[in-house]
Amino acid sequence: MNFIDLKRQYDAYRAEIDQAMSQVLESCQFVLGEPVQRLEETLADFVGAKHAIGVGSGTDALILALMAQDIRPGEEVITTPFTFIATAEAIALLGARPVFVDIDQATLNMDVDALKDVIAEREGAGAKVRGIIPVGLYGQCADMDEINQVADEHNLFVLEDACQSFGASYRDKMSCALSKIGVTSFFPAKPLGAYGDGGMIFTDDDSLAKRLKGLRVHGERARYDHVEIGLNARLDALQAAILLAKFPHFQDEIKARQRAAKIYWQLIEQRLPGVSPPVVRDDRTHVYAQYTIRLKDGIRDAVIQSMQDNGVPYAIHYPVPLHLQPAFAYLGYKAGSMPVSEQAAQEVLSLPMHPFITEPEQAEVIQAIEHGIKKI
Ligand SMILES: *Cc1c(COP(=O)(O)O)cnc(C)c1O
Repeated sequence: MNFIDLKRQYDAYRAEIDQAMSQVLESCQFVLGEPVQRLEETLADFVGAKHAIGVGSGTDALILALMAQDIRPGEEVITTPFTFIATAEAIALLGARPVFVDIDQATLNMDVDALKDVIAEREGAGAKVRGIIPVGLYGQCADMDEINQVADEHNLFVLEDACQSFGASYRDKMSCALSKIGVTSFFPAKPLGAYGDGGMIFTDDDSLAKRLKGLRVHGERARYDHVEIGLNARLDALQAAILLAKFPHFQDEIKARQRAAKIYWQLIEQRLPGVSPPVVRDDRTHVYAQYTIRLKDGIRDAVIQSMQDNGVPYAIHYPVPLHLQPAFAYLGYKAGSMPVSEQAAQEVLSLPMHPFITEPEQAEVIQAIEHGIKKI
C-alpha cells in the first residue's frame, strides 16, 4: 500500500498525460509559454480569481507574494506554527520576522482570538506588523472571513497559504480566492499535483498581478528591461501541460477523497474509540490533502509500531511545530508558548489518502491502528 498512490493516477490518465507531454516536447518551448497561460486561465476561472500567475513552487509563490507586498527587514508577518516550514520560511527569507499564533483545538487552523491577542501585543510593543498568512491545513480553509475582518481593522494584508487546500470551498467561494492573495503548490503529493515542482498565485488585483508576472522573471518589464530585483521562479511548460491533463479529473478526485474520508470516519466511529477523525466545519469543504486523525496521549507510538509491523504507511504532519524548530530558535519561542500546536504535534497521525484508495485498503489501515491500540 502507498501513502499516496501516484502510479494508479498515472495509469488512469496515462494517454492524456503522455500526449500533453509529447506536445510540449514537440513544441520545444519549455518554460512559461502557451500551456502555462492556458493553465493560468483555467485555474483562475476554477477558483474565481481574476488573475493567476504560474510560478516555480508553492514556496516561490509565498516569497513572490511577500515581495509584492514590499515586505522589508524588521517587519513582522503573522502565521501559524502548525504548518509546513515554507510558510514561515518565506517571511524569514525576506528578512521579516515570523510571529506565530496558536491554533484552534478542533480544526488545527489559526485561532482567530489568539490572532487578535497577538496583533494587540505586537502593535502595543511598537512592532510593524504587515500581514497575516493563514494556512488551509490538511485541505480545509481557516476562518478566512474573520481573519480578513481582523486584518482590515489593522490595515494588514491577508495571504492565504492554500498549498494544501486547493479545490476546497469556504462559504460558497473557493480557496485561493478568499483574500487579497492566495497561493498554492503543485508538488506531486498535493491535491492537484504535477510531476515536479510548481505553484500558482491568485489575486483580483490588476497591478499586483502585473507586478508578480515581472517578479517571477527577474523583475523584468520587457526583455532585458528590469524595473526591480526579482527571481527566476517560472512555471515550466511540461508541468503546466501535465496539470492541464489532470485537471478535468480533479473534481472527481476530490469527491473520491471525500468518499474515502467518509469511509474512514465510519470505520473510526465503529472500531476506534478514543480516536478523533478530522473536524470539518459546516460552512466549508475539506479536500483531504491529508487525512489526519488524533490519538490520545501516549497511544500514537503503539499505533505507529503496529502500522510499521503491518506494512501500513503513515506520516506525521507535523512532529515539531515551527516555533520549536532549530531554524527558528533565534525568534526566542520556548516550549509551552504554543500549547495547542505542541499538543497536536504529539497526537496527529496522517493515514494513507488519495483518490484511488480502496475500501479493503482502508479497512487494513484501520485494523493496524486497532491492533496497536489493543496492545496497550
Ligand atoms: C507544500 C506546502 C508549501 C510549499 O510548497 P512547495 O511547492 O513544496 O514549495 C507551503 N505551505 C504549505 C502549507 C505546504 O503544504
